[in-house]
Amino acid sequence: MSYCASRFHTVRRPTVAVNVGTVGVGGTNPIRIQSMTTSDTEDVAATVKQSIALAEVGCEIVRITAPNVTAAKCLGAIRNQFSAAGFAHIPLVADIHFLPSAAMEAVEHVEKIRVNPGNYADKKKFAVREYSDGDYDTELARLHETFSPLVLRCQALGRALRIGTNHGSLSDRIMNRYGDTPLGMVESALEFLRIARDHRYDQIILSMKSSNPKVMIQAYRLLVDRMNQEDMHYPLHLGVTEAGDGEDGRIKSAIGIGSLLLDGLGDTIRVSLTEDSVYEIPVARAIADKAMSLWHPPADHPASVTDAIDPYHFAKRETTTLTFYDTCIVGPEQPPRVIVRVPAVQDLPAAARELASPKLKDTPPEGLLVPIATAGDLAALCEIAASTPLPVVFLALELSPTLTPDLLQPLLALSRGRLLLVRAFTGADDRSLEAFAELVRQHGHFLACALTPEHTAALAPTLRALGDERLVFTLNSPLAASTPSSSAHSIGRYRQLVAALHAAGSRAPIWLRNTATSAIRSENSFLSKLIEASFLTGSLLCDGIGDLVSIETEADATRSTKLSYNVLQGAGARISKTEFVACPSCGRTLFDLQTTTQRIRAQTGHLKGVKLAIMGCIVNGPGEMADADFGYVGGAPGKINLYVGKNCVQYNLPQSAADARLIALIKEHGKWIEPPPAQA
Ligand code: SF4
Repeated sequence: MSYCASRFHTVRRPTVAVNVGTVGVGGTNPIRIQSMTTSDTEDVAATVKQSIALAEVGCEIVRITAPNVTAAKCLGAIRNQFSAAGFAHIPLVADIHFLPSAAMEAVEHVEKIRVNPGNYADKKKFAVREYSDGDYDTELARLHETFSPLVLRCQALGRALRIGTNHGSLSDRIMNRYGDTPLGMVESALEFLRIARDHRYDQIILSMKSSNPKVMIQAYRLLVDRMNQEDMHYPLHLGVTEAGDGEDGRIKSAIGIGSLLLDGLGDTIRVSLTEDSVYEIPVARAIADKAMSLWHPPADHPASVTDAIDPYHFAKRETTTLTFYDTCIVGPEQPPRVIVRVPAVQDLPAAARELASPKLKDTPPEGLLVPIATAGDLAALCEIAASTPLPVVFLALELSPTLTPDLLQPLLALSRGRLLLVRAFTGADDRSLEAFAELVRQHGHFLACALTPEHTAALAPTLRALGDERLVFTLNSPLAASTPSSSAHSIGRYRQLVAALHAAGSRAPIWLRNTATSAIRSENSFLSKLIEASFLTGSLLCDGIGDLVSIETEADATRSTKLSYNVLQGAGARISKTEFVACPSCGRTLFDLQTTTQRIRAQTGHLKGVKLAIMGCIVNGPGEMADADFGYVGGAPGKINLYVGKNCVQYNLPQSAADARLIALIKEHGKWIEPPPAQA
C-alpha cells in the first residue's frame, strides 16, 4: 500500500510541519482540533464571542467564513479583539469560496486561508464539454495566474493555506475529465499544489471532504498515494461534510475520520455537526485521543504491507451465502445482519420482551448472542427457549471451551438451522473442532470460529472439517489490542483474518464483534462506545468487510440495536431510516438550521431509503449535497429553494410554505409513505 506504512498498525504518516500561527500541524505535532463559527462575520462582536467559546472548550484552530471583501476586512477587528481577550495563541482561518479578492484581503489579517479548488478560479456552469489537451492547458494557465498572488502573499506573510476540496463542488473542468469521483477530487487539489510548488511554497494542508464517508476515505488515500508519487508530503485536515446532528452526525464523522486516522493519515480534524459548534469539540477530542493512543512506532514495521482489499475502490467482499432458519440470509447480496448480546442467560426473557417492543419494530435484530459458561447455563437456556418466544431469527451461543459437544446435545435438537455456535479454537485443539463440526453438520446449525491472527493455523483444519457452507469467522478483541506494543489494532486484525481466509481460498462470512475494553467499561461513556464502534465496524464496512455485526459494549438491548443500525447506516451498509445530509451552518446560513433540521426530521424521518439534504445557503449547498434525492436550501433570507436531485424545481419559496411543498414533492416522486400512527 503506497498510501500508508501499515494497514494493520497505526503508523503515523510523516509530513512537512505547517505553522498555522503558533500552532504546528503535521510533523511531530499532535492531532489538532478545529471548528468554525456560525455567526455573520460582519457581526464582529458575535464572531469574537463564538471564537472565545470555541477556544474555551479546547478548539485549537478557529475558522470563520469570509464570503466577501467586507467580511474579510472584518477579520482584522476580529483578530485584534480575540487576541485582546487572551487568545492570541489560537489561530484564525478565513474560509473562502469564489472570491480571490476576499482571500487577498483576509490573508492580511488571519493565520491561514482555506480555498476551495472547485470554485476559487472557476465559475460553475455545469457545462458538459470535451476539453482537448490544449483547452485544458489554457485553463491551467489561467488558474496559475489567479492563484499565484495568494500563494506569494501567504509566503511573504508566513501564512498557511488549506486547499480544501469538496466532493460536491468540483470545477466543470474536473467534472468533465474525471467526474465527481475520488480521483477528480484528488486531481482538483493537485492542480493547486503544483502551482504552490512552482513558487517553492510548502505551508499547505489538504482536505478531501464528502458527506459520504466511503468517498472521503478513498479520496484521502488516493491523494496521499498521488502525493507520494510526486514527492509531496503535506499534512491532512480530515472531516466528513454535512454529517448532520446527534448520534448519526457523530457516527458518520467517527467512521470517516477514524478510518483514516487508524491508517496513520490525518493531522488536524473537524467534526461538522448541525449543532452549536462547541459541541463538536468533545467529539473531535475523543476521536483524536483514541487514534493517538494507537500510534505505533514506525521502526517495527516493514515499509509496505499488503492485504486482500483494494483501499481505493469500494467492493463488498465476496462470500458464500448462508441461510439461518430459512429466513435470514447472510451473504454478498445481503446487508450486514445485526446481533445483540445479552449479558447472561438469565437476562434472556427481559431482553426478548425489550426487543419485541414497538420501539424496534422497524429495526429488529436478527440474532441474539447468549453467553453459555456452564452446564447450568445450558439447562436454563433450554428451559427459557421452550417457554419464551424469542423475537429473533437465530441464537448465537458463545460457548466456554469447557463445554463439550456431549453436553450440548439436548440444545442442538432445539431447532434445526437456528443456532450459531461461537467458540474460539486454536491450532492445538483439532479434535474438539472436528467434534463441533460434526454436531453442526448433523443438526444443520452453523459454527462461528473465533480465531486470532496468531492462531490462523486453525484455519486449515476448520475449513477441512466444515467447508465454507456452515462457517462464519470472527475475532473477539476490542479496538486496542491487549498488547499494543506488539499487536495490530482490531481493524488490522480483521484485515489479517480476511487476508488469511483469502490465502486459504475461503469465502466464509465475517462477523464484526465490538467487545468492550476494560477502559471503556469503566469509562462508561456512550460517546466513547459510539466512537469505538464507528471506528471498528464503520472502517471495516467501508473496506467491504463484514456480514454480521454486534456491538457488545452496551448492556441495554435497545440502545445496542439502535447503535448497530446507526453505524450500518453511517457506513452506507444498511439503510433503515431516512438519510439526512445537513450542513453544519456558518456565517452564510440563511435560516435556523438546527430547528429546521429537527422539524423536517420529525415529519420525514420514517422514509426509509430517502436521502434529504438541508443546506444553509445556495452558494455552497447545492454543490455539497451531491447525491441527495431532495434538497431544502436557503435561497435568500427567509426564502427556500427546493431541489429534486441536482435540479432546482422551486425558487424563493417562503420558508413557512417550504415544509409542505417538500413533502408534496416527495409524494409526487413516489417516495412518500404515511408515518406510523404514533408518529403521525
Ligand atoms: S452550505 Fe451551510 S456550511 Fe456550507 S457555506 Fe452554505 S451555509 Fe455555510
